[in-house]
Amino acid sequence: MDSMEAFYKVTYGLYIITASHEGKQGGYVGNTVFQVTADPPQFAISCSKDNASLSLIKKSGYFAVSVLDKQTKIDLIGTFGYKSSRDIEKFEGVDYIKGSSGCPIVLEDCLAWFECKVTQAHDLGSHLLFIGEIINKDLLKASKSPLTYAYYQTELKGRAPKNAPTYIEKKESGIPVEATAASKYKCLVCGHVYDPAEGDEDSGIPPGTAFEDLPDDWVCPLCGAEKSDFEPLED
Ligand code: FE
Repeated sequence: MDSMEAFYKVTYGLYIITASHEGKQGGYVGNTVFQVTADPPQFAISCSKDNASLSLIKKSGYFAVSVLDKQTKIDLIGTFGYKSSRDIEKFEGVDYIKGSSGCPIVLEDCLAWFECKVTQAHDLGSHLLFIGEIINKDLLKASKSPLTYAYYQTELKGRAPKNAPTYIEKKESGIPVEATAASKYKCLVCGHVYDPAEGDEDSGIPPGTAFEDLPDDWVCPLCGAEKSDFEPLED
């Protein structure tokens, strides 16, 4: 037996990992944060080499970890999880403080945070594994539950219907699909599906609103992408 689904049985939390160097701030949503020793207290994080925050961690030698609330706003995950610090200022409008190392520490939807000094880095190919000793920490919301990767996948992100039946009649191969007022549209950035039958309650869009009729300034409720980043859904 060799099933890729075996990986789905490994559990994770979800965190915002942040760093800064010479005035540039970055952060991303990650699930690979682990306490690896107690004395001294150390965390390990695995950071993709595609991630803009990687060079900030390498150059500064510090990173911070914010443990996310189970009820974290999807917009916060959209900003830190689906966009790049190369393109936007992720911290604009976000509640955060600066740690003693200069690391920005996200306080929004944060239950507890840790500021770490990098003690080791290991090249894993696609990722760098950083070991960091905890130099500062705080517990902000003792009674709240942390967000798990599984809960995010099944409940938060689950607002976007998966494998939704298509309302678009497929044309012959090579001919573009014609969307109708009932067509669902998929966000090319995060995969969120806009369903006209449901509308977008959080943005005041009533059920029955065709994608075409959404305001021009409407954005993806999951990641903040613009209307132009959506395309009609095919099955
Ligand atoms: Fe999106």
